[in-house]
Amino acid sequence: MPRKAISRQLRDEVAQRANHRCSYCQSSHAVGVGMVIDHIIPISAGGDNAPNNLTLACFRCNNFKLNHLNAKDPETSEIVPLFNPYTQEWHKHFAWSQDYTQTIGKTAVGRATIGLLKLNDPWWMGARRL
Ligand SMILES: [Zn+2]
Repeated sequence: MPRKAISRQLRDEVAQRANHRCSYCQSSHAVGVGMVIDHIIPISAGGDNAPNNLTLACFRCNNFKLNHLNAKDPETSEIVPLFNPYTQEWHKHFAWSQDYTQTIGKTAVGRATIGLLKLNDPWWMGARRL
């Protein structure tokens, strides 16, 4: 079944709501990473194009997220839902290291999302250092 297109206006609204930053890693176009509209609940898992299911994500986060809904918290091994940028606040689940190169998970959701989306891989840490 072909995907229903997301209107230009809705794309602009979603980007505006995300402050033109990736809702997961917080990077902006300035880092040189392209942005896409991400389905928070993937289409393959029953998600749709409703505004509350859409957010802005960079290519890297979107590619690692794929159709995942949950991931393992590396601290407890518990399977927990991924961070939902529409219903949850980034700062409640994540923090920055002192030098702003590393994302720190404050909750199981934050830690699991960091792990699945590889938010602290060497590429990201190098990009943030710049
Ligand atoms: Zn990202």
